[in-house]
Amino acid sequence: KTIGVPLEVFPNEYRVACTPDTAKELRKFGFAVTIQHNAGEQAKFPDEMYQRVGCTIVEDPRAIWECDVVLKVRPPMRHPQLGVHEAELLKPNHVLVSFIYPSRDAELVQLLQASRGTVIAMDCVPRITTAQKLDALSSMGGVMGYRAVVEAANFFPRYFTGQMTAAGKVVPAKVLIIGAGVAGLAAIGAAKGLGAIVRAFDVRPTVRDQIESMGGEFLTVNVTEDGNGGGGYAKKMSDRFIEAEHELFGAQAKEVDIIITTAQIPNQRAPILITTPMVQSMKPGSVIVDLASETGGNCQLTQQGETIRTQNGVTIIGAIDLPSRMASQSSQLYSKNMVHMMDECGRGEKFNVDIEKNPITIGCCIIHNGELRWPQCTKMVQ
Ligand code: NAD
Repeated sequence: KTIGVPLEVFPNEYRVACTPDTAKELRKFGFAVTIQHNAGEQAKFPDEMYQRVGCTIVEDPRAIWECDVVLKVRPPMRHPQLGVHEAELLKPNHVLVSFIYPSRDAELVQLLQASRGTVIAMDCVPRITTAQKLDALSSMGGVMGYRAVVEAANFFPRYFTGQMTAAGKVVPAKVLIIGAGVAGLAAIGAAKGLGAIVRAFDVRPTVRDQIESMGGEFLTVNVTEDGNGGGGYAKKMSDRFIEAEHELFGAQAKEVDIIITTAQIPNQRAPILITTPMVQSMKPGSVIVDLASETGGNCQLTQQGETIRTQNGVTIIGAIDLPSRMASQSSQLYSKNMVHMMDECGRGEKFNVDIEKNPITIGCCIIHNGELRWPQCTKMVQ
């Protein structure tokens, strides 16, 4: 069987789905690996490194999409140079492994179904213990949380850590993290590491211990409602609860220097948790990093993909390319997730996407031989 790895064509996407190290592993599994020219260049993996581990390099993206298995990062899209949709380049009986986000793009799902192959959506991997090693949402979430702190530090005009210096006392920065899932916890760790005072809030009370064990203070509201929506994800909260959150964050906004928001609900627009008046009440020089920007944003003023400065001097970062800003690291982790996914399906000639016994592939194989399984498949495993 052949594996093909394309150059990502989404703007500013620098990750690659297979590194030279993971290509070597896949070759050991018995696959022939073909990499598109310069696919790893931006992640600092030049063609020669792939050639050295026995990969074939091709110039023409069509040759990649004709492979038996295509490994990719971003969901297929219209190819800017070829003028056709990447999904239309797939050959029948192919297997595509990629982030897909089927709930966001019905047309893509239709095109993929029409390509009469099998599609594994990395964003639909069930949140079960055995799937942790191929959970790409988690590995990318960790990178995003860490990088959010680095980006905030880049714009924040002061130290994070408190200091006693000969020139006087420096007070530590106060950081508020909203949503303490994978990205939020990574952000708590990074901000604590820089010496800030960190507070965090989440609708799932079970994360309290995790926040505290990372050195963060767990904030609460006086409305009781468990936000657990199953599978580790949150549910949409009642208006009353959101109001209580607004009250809490309204008070916090006046006090803290940095807010990092990560609150998401599967298949829905992200909730607005930081309103315009809250931003207006923040101190000049404060920074908001909105990691929910791609699903609409948690801050009312966020502009997707942009960094803006408000009149009162607050920087709001709505970047959607944070994993790409650490492309080597993200590619290394993502491609490892890919190897584990391939191993789950069987090595070399035994390769087969099992939708009967294996809970991992049952949950994330959204199209099987042209047959649409999504969204039911994601509910079959919890
Ligand atoms: P996510 O990106 O979907 O959401 C981020 C966080 O935002 C979540 O913690 C959620 O509770 C929170 N949130 C949603 N609405 C909110 C609101 N109104 N106010 C404040 N916070 C809000 O989630 P994620 O980080 O991908 O994963 C969440 C959890 O899933 C993890 O913390 C973990 O417990 C679980 N998980 C389990 C596994 C596994 O067992 N294999 C793997 C990954 C994650």
